[in-house]
Parts: sequence; structure tokens; C-alpha cells
Amino acid sequence: MRIGLIGFVDCAHRLEGAGICERPHGHTYRVEAVLEATLGRDTDLEALRRRFIRGLDQLDHSDLNDRMPYPSCENFCSLLFGVLKADFPGLARLKVWEGEGKWAEVRVDDPFPTYPAWQSPSTARKSS
Ligand SMILES: [Zn+2]
Repeated sequence: MRIGLIGFVDCAHRLEGAGICERPHGHTYRVEAVLEATLGRDTDLEALRRRFIRGLDQLDHSDLNDRMPYPSCENFCSLLFGVLKADFPGLARLKVWEGEGKWAEVRVDDPFPTYPAWQSPSTARKSS
């Protein structure tokens, strides 16, 4: 069985060499997670949802260019997958919507599902 969680996170970014996206700007990203789960009476979906939101809050209102050199929707999706996978071992898929009509998706069985240079917010703060 699979269950889904949906949340939102606001972030800024700029993309070098990408036309109008070179200007600093922000998005409210819609984030959809699919978890492999064995649901039973002990599963607390609301607790999962709250934990999911806390995971997203790690990056809320951050500048994604502080975290990676090219924070495209695809790279952000991979970064978030790594952030959330630590708290959700059953995370099977993550889809990130960048506005209307554009999204990227990472699946756990993709060759490189997590962004390689990701640092946790606490690690990034210590190193800067
Ligand atoms: Zn953008």
C-alpha cells in the first residue's frame, strides 16, 4: 500500500544562463510524497503529515543557491528527497511542482535519487 503527503515550501533561487530565470525570484513549491506503508490501526497519518511539514520547514524561505550551484526544479527535488528520506525510510517517490504545469519527480529506484552535495541546514550554517 502507498500513502501520500502533500505540503508546500517557499524558496528563492536564480538559474544562471536560463533566460528570465536568471533574475532572483521565488516559488511556492508544492511537494507530493508517496510512501510505501503498511497501514493499520497504529498508523497515525496526521503525525506523518506533521513530520513531513517539519521536514519541509528545514528549507522554508531559504535561498536554494546557498545549497547548490544550480537549483533547478529537478535538483531541488533530489535535494528534498535526501532531506525527507532520513525521516521517511518508506519514501518511494517525491514530486515537486514549480508553479503551475511544471514538476520534477524522483523515485527511490532512480540511479541517483539524492542530490550529491546536499548539506543539512545545520551543517550549512556551521560551515559558513
Ligand atoms: Zn524559478
